[in-house]
Amino acid sequence: MRRVLLLLLAVLVCVQSSAQNLPDLGEVSQAVFSPAMERGLGERIMEQIRADRSYLDDPVITDYLNALGSRLVAASPDTRQLFEFFLIKDLSVNAFALPGGYIGVHTGLITISQTESELAGVLAHEVAHVTQRHIARMLAGQERNSLMTLAAMALGVLAARANSNLGQAIIAGSQAAAIQSQLDYTREHEREADRVGVQILEQAGFDVRGMPSFMERLQRATRQYDTNAPDYLRTHPVTTERIADLQNRTEIHGYKQIPDNRSFQLVRARVRAISEDPRQAVTFFEQGLTERRFLNEAATRYGLALALLGAKDYPRVGRELVLLEKMLPDEPAIAALRGQYLSATGDSGAALTHYAAALKKFPRFRALVYDYAELLIQQNRPDAALKLVEEQRQYTPGDSRLYVLQARSYAAQGKRLLQHQAQAEAYLRQGHLRAAVEQLQIASRTGDGDFYQLSSVEARLRELRGRLKEAEMAKRP
Ligand SMILES: [Zn+2]
Repeated sequence: MRRVLLLLLAVLVCVQSSAQNLPDLGEVSQAVFSPAMERGLGERIMEQIRADRSYLDDPVITDYLNALGSRLVAASPDTRQLFEFFLIKDLSVNAFALPGGYIGVHTGLITISQTESELAGVLAHEVAHVTQRHIARMLAGQERNSLMTLAAMALGVLAARANSNLGQAIIAGSQAAAIQSQLDYTREHEREADRVGVQILEQAGFDVRGMPSFMERLQRATRQYDTNAPDYLRTHPVTTERIADLQNRTEIHGYKQIPDNRSFQLVRARVRAISEDPRQAVTFFEQGLTERRFLNEAATRYGLALALLGAKDYPRVGRELVLLEKMLPDEPAIAALRGQYLSATGDSGAALTHYAAALKKFPRFRALVYDYAELLIQQNRPDAALKLVEEQRQYTPGDSRLYVLQARSYAAQGKRLLQHQAQAEAYLRQGHLRAAVEQLQIASRTGDGDFYQLSSVEARLRELRGRLKEAEMAKRP
């Protein structure tokens, strides 16, 4: 918690010095808090979140969220803004926007949404908060008190998460409510986010009527569980007025039948299968199938197969997979499940062949890449793993998991300098600068690299030490 505050101080120095002689209307938010500063602040908060245990780095779900998100952003008024959508393992219903276009989505929001348009509606509302620069305006509006506001924002975000290790300490404090109130958007911001959100949703080709119906469901849910309102309702209060307003806006659009994206239903089943106890999840999906109570049969079978894999009931996974492959022959998530099943049952030969073929079909599907690389390392084929990781790194240079796999491959080859150098790059991308410096120090002393490798390690070490020093300077009061 203290670390977040200290990191924020660094950002504040620039905020305050640039905020001194500025007018106080309209464009002020742009001037006081530039998009670059907002992004920087967001990145620092993200470093804390990525290290938190509630951060869920599931490649299938995260890639889906980002694909859905980009569709919305492409239809938004500001397509230049960078966005990153990420997943928080938390059963409460919530989504939140951080400075800089980072949008967090609770697993509970995905499971409560019945259609992709409903989920897209909430995301469009958050995208609108970002493109309308509500966060910057909120910060600018509290200029004199900006330290408190910034700190409160970051802490509030962390505190909002039930499974968070940082969050619990904060929630226990008596200031939690005060922090929460400072975090809230104004009514005008809410109205604007709804208005722009509906436009984005419509432009992106979703059923805009998903928004009011979803809000109504949330409101009903609140009445039922009065004391335990979903977080989304606290940060974005749903009033009867807001629902009426949304209905007026969306009525003119009329009814549009939009086939539900299959990926949405698969992802929704996946969220449940991986966040519940496997046995409970098996029962849930089995009941859905026997009572024919489901939104999508293939997705329900996919959830069942995943839960069965978690419960290590391999014969049944195999039977479900045969059905699934008939129902959805071109689905990368099913191909990834087949690979995991083959690996889990010890048929590594078949698994290797399967992954090679599946990656030809779905070359950018991260779940396949990670699992294949993992298996290659296990099967003592680090050279092939390295080749795979190297290819993928061109597309996602910021992906820390690729560097972890690279470090493990080098370790298997006994190349210690390269191993620690790759581990340093992994730590750096996870936001652990000090650990990255330590790895480079180890790398420089292994004595098994050639002249060029050693020079490259030393150059990187100098660079990162400089950054570490800067960060420490900024922390001093
Ligand atoms: Zn809102």
